[in-house]
Amino acid sequence: MDEAHVEKKHPRAESIKIREAITRSVEANVVALAGLIAHGRGEAFDYILGEKTTSPGMKAITASAAYIILAEHPILSVNGNVAALCAEEFVELSKISNSKLEVNLFHRTLEREIAIENLLKKAGADKVLGVGEAASSRIQEIFSDRRRVDPEGIFKADVVFVPLEDGDRTQGLVKMGKKVLTVDLNPLSRTAQWANVTIVDNIIRAMPLLISEVKRLKTVKPLELKAIIKNYDNKKVLSEAMIIMEQRLHSLAEKGVYLDIDY
Ligand code: ATP
Ligand code: MG
Repeated sequence: MDEAHVEKKHPRAESIKIREAITRSVEANVVALAGLIAHGRGEAFDYILGEKTTSPGMKAITASAAYIILAEHPILSVNGNVAALCAEEFVELSKISNSKLEVNLFHRTLEREIAIENLLKKAGADKVLGVGEAASSRIQEIFSDRRRVDPEGIFKADVVFVPLEDGDRTQGLVKMGKKVLTVDLNPLSRTAQWANVTIVDNIIRAMPLLISEVKRLKTVKPLELKAIIKNYDNKKVLSEAMIIMEQRLHSLAEKGVYLDIDY
């Protein structure tokens, strides 16, 4: 990352560094142009959330870890933005949880699929599903190329971790009977609303926490993991995330101008 570009004192230096990394990933043909717009949408919600992991975010991370550990055939879905931001974390999560990695793109091109596969392999992945002809199965109810998935991966998965995903595809997976876990900073998106578990957090912050939760819960009895899932309520978690955003805006508005700007 070219850190010379970002002044260390900049109040949002971290966010700008990530923005630069994702922009460079467009040049490397890992991220689609539409991925930049999706990233901007995420940034806007993160700004409102306060750029911190919240308690509803943490509850969703714990429930996701329980689902992944209990799954018979868990799949981690990787699109361009996910690969650009967290390739290493995805490889680590797949190793510690015996999950498979699948390249799963909204805007499919063979070139991008291979670029993402290479990025994951560089990060230590042994096998990557969903590349080229391997993505020969279809998500029902979805039209066009957006429905292609790997018969050895998402198609036969019981649990799919599919962050930063499109709403139609999430709905298609849920209707196929899969348990869908997602990360989405927008609690109002159709993906956030359709998924079984929605982690309303930046994927950059959520992944290390999800990895530690999987490590911690791997030693816990299956019955306890089932109880975590049974007690989890995604609608409530989404409401809590929205209330945090609303209250934060409210308190900032009440304080008045909060940046030290002399107009
Ligand atoms: P939907 O199709 O679910 O109704 P959408 O069309 O607005 O939503 P998509 O582009 O389909 O959005 O999906 C990308 C989602 O990922 C957006 O909701 C965006 O807020 C979210 N997002 C983008 N970057 C991040 C990030 N770094 N961490 C978490 N979420 C993110
Ligand atoms: Mg969408």
